Amino acid sequence: MKQVPVQRVPLALALEAVHEQTTVSLGNAAARVDSAPDKKVLEQATSDLLARLAALQDAFHADGRHALLLILQGRDASGKDGVIKSVYGAFNPTGVQVAAFGPPTALELRHDFLWRVHQVVPPRGMIGVFNRSHYEDVLAVRVRQLAPVSVWQARFAQINHFEEMLHANGVVIRKCFLHISQDEQRARLLARLDDPTKNWKFRVEDLNDRARWDDYTEAYREALTRCSTPDAPWFVVPADNKALRNYLVARMLVDTLESLTPSYPAMQEAVRTAARNFT
Ligand code: ADP
Repeated sequence: MKQVPVQRVPLALALEAVHEQTTVSLGNAAARVDSAPDKKVLEQATSDLLARLAALQDAFHADGRHALLLILQGRDASGKDGVIKSVYGAFNPTGVQVAAFGPPTALELRHDFLWRVHQVVPPRGMIGVFNRSHYEDVLAVRVRQLAPVSVWQARFAQINHFEEMLHANGVVIRKCFLHISQDEQRARLLARLDDPTKNWKFRVEDLNDRARWDDYTEAYREALTRCSTPDAPWFVVPADNKALRNYLVARMLVDTLESLTPSYPAMQEAVRTAARNFT
């Protein structure tokens, strides 16, 4: 692996996976960490982690035994785009695959809900990220009552089976719920109104979803607890503070990639022999 001089700022902060038995706290207070280090410290620590991520990716790509898939979920303005830009920006774009999921098309609706998702799962050697995902099918679909209860209820098990199958085929899955408070979302949505370069991001549906805050909280709580497994865990990321959010996601990705101990394949003997005669 490429040697990167990493002076890691020693921070005790790390994400903990959601466990099925735990009650996930999704109140406004859980969107913040009062004892978080200040912005400069977090940014320095994150930049060290990003350098490490770039080096790990190089070996991960060459190694080719696994794919990595990060699933990002969160309410509007929770920072999904921000994480992709700030954290995934560290990677060599050649080895990265980004997929975003908006409302399904007419054709997608005629298929099972995982059809469009499976097609864009990263292949081995690649690091992928989903901006929203199949979880919308137990979140937006549930809250906006787009399908009968029996249909979305059955999906928790279907999602677990799907992710289990992917894991068994070399796809390492990590899932982050970017958790913002109601006040922070309000401030960010208002900023979109004030800033002409962000006006286009503002949508009326976002306000309808905001009005259903508690319904979404309940839907997230059930999805997070029922679909967090040892092989495809969910993490709740306190996301009111952007610097902290980026640090926590970057750290989790470094820990994940390091746990896979990616290594460069040795040169095959035939190639070595041929190379000896290379002029
Ligand atoms: P974003 O708001 O994330 O920038 P889009 O406006 O393209 O991106 O699409 C997001 C919207 O699509 C969200 O309101 C989300 O709930 C909705 N969506 C995504 N997947 C589904 C789905 N399977 N069923 C219904 N709505 C969905």
